[in-house]
Amino acid sequence: MMSVRRPQSKRKIFRERLYTNISLGLECEVIVREHKTPFGQKLALYLHTVLGHVLVLDGNIQWMEKDEAIYHETMAHWPMNAVAAPRRVLVVGGGDLGVARELVKYPTLEQVDVVDIDPEVREVTLKYVPHIAGNAPTDPRVRKFDVDAVHFVAEAAGGEYDVVILDTTDEVNVATPLFGDTFQREVYRVLTEGGLMVRVAGSVFLQEGEVRKTLALARRLFGEGSVGLLTLPTMMYLGCFFGIVAAVKKGKFSATPVRPIDSVQLQPLRWYDERWHSVVAERSAYVQEKFFS
Ligand code: SAM
Repeated sequence: MMSVRRPQSKRKIFRERLYTNISLGLECEVIVREHKTPFGQKLALYLHTVLGHVLVLDGNIQWMEKDEAIYHETMAHWPMNAVAAPRRVLVVGGGDLGVARELVKYPTLEQVDVVDIDPEVREVTLKYVPHIAGNAPTDPRVRKFDVDAVHFVAEAAGGEYDVVILDTTDEVNVATPLFGDTFQREVYRVLTEGGLMVRVAGSVFLQEGEVRKTLALARRLFGEGSVGLLTLPTMMYLGCFFGIVAAVKKGKFSATPVRPIDSVQLQPLRWYDERWHSVVAERSAYVQEKFFS
């Protein structure tokens, strides 16, 4: 699926500096040069010979073609198999439609609302790396809203969604309010009872503070026993493992799926299955000691 290098194109060394005194350097081809979109983010698309296309917003990697399935499959299938009968899902961010691509594999799902502030993320993805979005762009259940999620969620009805997936950028620029107490309260409000939220938290090694903060935010509202931390290895986030906070509204967090996972129906899958569901949700001794004791 990865494109071959185009001759005579511009090359550069892109450096991601998300972590303290550590940076990741990628020698790559520039597909879309870094520029400010009309929606206030700096966007770039690169092509790396090993990692494939790499989408960057505000200097931070959003996904790499090589390992995007680890992240997108877990963000979509984990909550879908942790909730009894999910019918309506809200994706905050996720404009590339990578998470929506996985969600539309469930015939029982009635509605997937994708709320991303920046339509250029979708446009660039669909133009250069369309397989990231799969069938999502033409699936009638997927509704795309090019607006700030802060306003969208504030206006949504209480108990509207069975699953809320916060597939957002890190806590910078336009995403900053999504990491605050007010927004977290609104997410809690729009969830059904027994509904579940997942949200990016950060590298458990390199962003310990961010992971702790995101867990604390969820614990205050959902309660201790309702909150868990999924940890998955990714190349995209330097310093694996990467943490995703999962929280159930008025229910207990469990590492076991609520029903047997129909892996045949969900094909093509590259990472997710029944074992993966439990493995990422079980606490390692490290996670237990750092974040739960
Ligand atoms: N996996 C990625 C990561 O954590 O690095 C996230 C990918 S997804 C591309 C992140 C999306 O969040 C971007 O498309 C960005 O436009 C969107 N976003 C940031 N702030 C937002 C806001 N306030 N409302 C809606 N979408 C937002």
